[in-house]
Amino acid sequence: MLRRESKTSLARPTTVNGKQHSYYYEVLDALTGPGCGVCALVTRARIRYLDGLAYESVNDIAIREKLRKALGLCNRHAWFFLNDVREPLGTAIIYRDILRTLYRATANGNAPRAIVSVGPCLACTIERVVADNALFTIVDSLDSIELIEALQQSIGLCAPHLVRACQLAPPRTGQRLLEIVQQSWTRRMVTLHASLAMLATGAPGTFPKDQPTVPMIESTTKIGLPATDDPYTCPVCAYVNVNLLNVDPSHLTDKPSGLCNVHAWALPTDGFTSLLQQTHQIYLNQARLLVNRPDRGTIVEKARLFWRTRHPPLLVRAPVACVVCARQAAIEAQCGQEDHQLLCLPHLRQAVAAANANVLPRIRPSWLSLSELLGEYIRKEDYRFRHEPRGSERDSPRWATALVAGAPGLA
Ligand SMILES: [Zn+2]
Ligand SMILES: [Zn+2]
Ligand SMILES: [Zn+2]
Ligand SMILES: [Zn+2]
Repeated sequence: MLRRESKTSLARPTTVNGKQHSYYYEVLDALTGPGCGVCALVTRARIRYLDGLAYESVNDIAIREKLRKALGLCNRHAWFFLNDVREPLGTAIIYRDILRTLYRATANGNAPRAIVSVGPCLACTIERVVADNALFTIVDSLDSIELIEALQQSIGLCAPHLVRACQLAPPRTGQRLLEIVQQSWTRRMVTLHASLAMLATGAPGTFPKDQPTVPMIESTTKIGLPATDDPYTCPVCAYVNVNLLNVDPSHLTDKPSGLCNVHAWALPTDGFTSLLQQTHQIYLNQARLLVNRPDRGTIVEKARLFWRTRHPPLLVRAPVACVVCARQAAIEAQCGQEDHQLLCLPHLRQAVAAANANVLPRIRPSWLSLSELLGEYIRKEDYRFRHEPRGSERDSPRWATALVAGAPGLA
């Protein structure tokens, strides 16, 4: 049942004989809530999809194959699955498979290719489709008084979803939407950190962190990564976590500085308000640029009709660079040449890219031993063996998530 619902949400809603599709009412209902309506629909779709994965799809052969290609879920969704959906058994089943696949695939010379995913995170794909469907519905229904009222009476849309709507809409419709949303923002005079974080970056957990690329630093001085208590904890993840909040804006890239969704919600509320305001303003400027683009009119209209039946345009690159993500990339760049005994997969990729090839053979045995521990976890979940005392396999779903997807919020 749950799986059928998630599949249905992938179908693009249409207008039947000029009447609104029932999805329109779902969108309208979401817009009357307290935050961004599209973020609310995305959150609901994520929970539904991951619930379905936990209860039905985890043993589906085709889905397991897709998960294998994607090397599991992305960092954001892997931790949602474990902590929010509370699905340690599903996690154990998925990640035992991934760890065995990694171990086998890196036995020969294909190592660098085998540690890179060849498919998207399944939950990210669902979220993207749901957000686009909702935004297409809003853009198509801007002549509806009730929809305009719903946008005006809530915060309208968060800034990243407004930018995406302006990208999907023909310029004149985008201009109208921008005016409506800006009016509802102005009416609210947002000052609280949480409201500002919502407005500038979306609801918590809705978007991934930035992925800035910083060249690895070639240095002969080792920074000496601290030892960790957990046997499967990545020392680079641990080191980054300790040093992350020491933000230095000089690490910035080509884009203006702000915050990503992950760090807008993870940081302490003091001292970051101006960065959130700046983030909000940068997105607003991007939305203005999109609705004032020179190709107003027929070509865009035609292209939009094309997108309605094919794939929507690619997401525009977020116009803002998160200062904390940039700081993280700089710290990771320093760690590339360390003598690692263990690394999570995202940090292993960085080490291999930095020509630290020795690291892979040292890590492979950990994949095998952790997959065996996960096998033990799965066995003890069987009602016949539930009475057996629990050992270190109890923590294996969490260790496997951290080893494949990286520590929470770090990849
Ligand atoms: Zn939103
Ligand atoms: Zn994902
Ligand atoms: Zn790591
Ligand atoms: Zn960030």
